[in-house]
Amino acid sequence: MGTHTAEQPAPVAAGTGTTAVPTRTGLLIIGASQSGVQLAVSLRALGFDEHITLLGDEDHRPYQRPALSKEFLQGTVESESLIFRSNEYWAEHNVDLVKGEYIVRIDRDADGSGVAHASSGRQFPFKRLALTVGARARKLEIDGGDLDGVLYLRNADDALALKARVGDAKDVVVIGGGFIGLEAASSLQKMGKNVTVLEFGPRLVGRAVGEETAEYFLQAHRARGLDIRLNTSAARFRAASAEGDKQTSVAGVELQDGTVLPAQIVLVGIGVIPNTQLAEQLELTVDNGIVVDRFALASDGTTVAIGDCANMPNPVPGSEPGERIRLESVNNAIEHAKVAAYSLTGRREEYAGIPWFWSNQADLKLQIAGLCNGYDRTVLRRDEERGKFSVLYYRQGQVIAADCVNAPLDFMAVKNALAKGRNIPADAAADPATLLKTITTDS
Ligand SMILES: Cc1cc2nc3c(=O)[nH]c(=O)nc-3n(C[C@H](O)[C@H](O)[C@H](O)COP(=O)(O)OP(=O)(O)OC[C@H]3O[C@@H](n4cnc5c(N)ncnc54)[C@H](O)[C@@H]3O)c2cc1C
Repeated sequence: MGTHTAEQPAPVAAGTGTTAVPTRTGLLIIGASQSGVQLAVSLRALGFDEHITLLGDEDHRPYQRPALSKEFLQGTVESESLIFRSNEYWAEHNVDLVKGEYIVRIDRDADGSGVAHASSGRQFPFKRLALTVGARARKLEIDGGDLDGVLYLRNADDALALKARVGDAKDVVVIGGGFIGLEAASSLQKMGKNVTVLEFGPRLVGRAVGEETAEYFLQAHRARGLDIRLNTSAARFRAASAEGDKQTSVAGVELQDGTVLPAQIVLVGIGVIPNTQLAEQLELTVDNGIVVDRFALASDGTTVAIGDCANMPNPVPGSEPGERIRLESVNNAIEHAKVAAYSLTGRREEYAGIPWFWSNQADLKLQIAGLCNGYDRTVLRRDEERGKFSVLYYRQGQVIAADCVNAPLDFMAVKNALAKGRNIPADAAADPATLLKTITTDS
């Protein structure tokens, strides 16, 4: 990532102080990450010709987050390759990219236009507003939480802070057995660290996968040498105990039962909180995210809100009426941005495609198609010899989702079947030697 001050485009605001009257942008996108970038790109593809300001608080050009817990942490990718678009692209497409500005307040007129105020004092007047503000890491509020070396992993600065400490660390405790925690734990283990994962709940990746997949990951990680402790939580973080030393760095994690695990790094990955502060200030409806309709419009009917910050109607065909969902994935940020781009150009197009997600943990490449909420049956497909594992989820005989580990053909077959409203009969799917695409049926 790095900072790229020399390449930073001119901000949209005309003046540098708070008194200058800045130019009004056609669309102000607050949050310059996966969904904000996609929104700007999709709008240009649809012929939206008004000026766009893509503004974010980070000091980096917009980059892809998934690598932060994987290749970037391990040092196997160049940071430049994570940047979404070149500065030339933004300039050619009449998009001002504004970095390092945190919006604290928005004043709104009745027609939806307004002015966004940054903590620096700069103002960003706009005709139309998009909130692509994502989510922030949930903090673990226990004793010692402010010690050096107690880290989170949500953005590039977090990843750089982690990388900076990794060289000197021997022991790492990861708190949270969700995707980010397990990805980072696998990466750190690969980098030669002694890694322990503490999971508060009775199984890994609590909400996102079913029991079989959670159990598969538990066994697979343990077989690869990760020390994973379920039903275990940290009571406090301990500082180095040498007398006379300034005790500002973490040295260990004390568990509820009094056990102390040595740790020169503690990485906390206990989920995220959607950034709804601006929406609340604008009196938009908020409920585990900014509540939007099928067209990505917030409760005022004019602001669009998309990606990790948005709570939307479940887009999966056949889901219960009124069922809502907030998704945290690259695929969702992209698809949701496309819906919002249509809305902003006066068209009404619903979410296309089936939500999907991936997570790479060591040599375990998980791909998830669909959402498994409300399943009543699972079918397990396991090929030990080839290291493949899939779980198909069914509701009333209809396949609704699949978790596939190192099984891309299963993933593609289920994703395609869901997208086309087709089915994969459960009994036939149970034979792992059967290619799922050959047994897909029309209902
Ligand atoms: C380490 C990591 C690994 C991941 N791995 C995967 C993966 O393997 N597969 C997958 O599908 N997904 C993965 N994800 C999730 C995926 O990256 C997110 O779903 C995606 O980034 C969401 O994009 P977004 O634009 O909605 O929100 P975000 O990426 O959170 O971006 C929101 C931006 O808005 C900024 N912002 C917030 N408030 C303000 C404000 N008031 N003023 C200015 N700027 C503001 C934030 O700083 C941030 O830059 C991963 C995420 C992380 C952190």
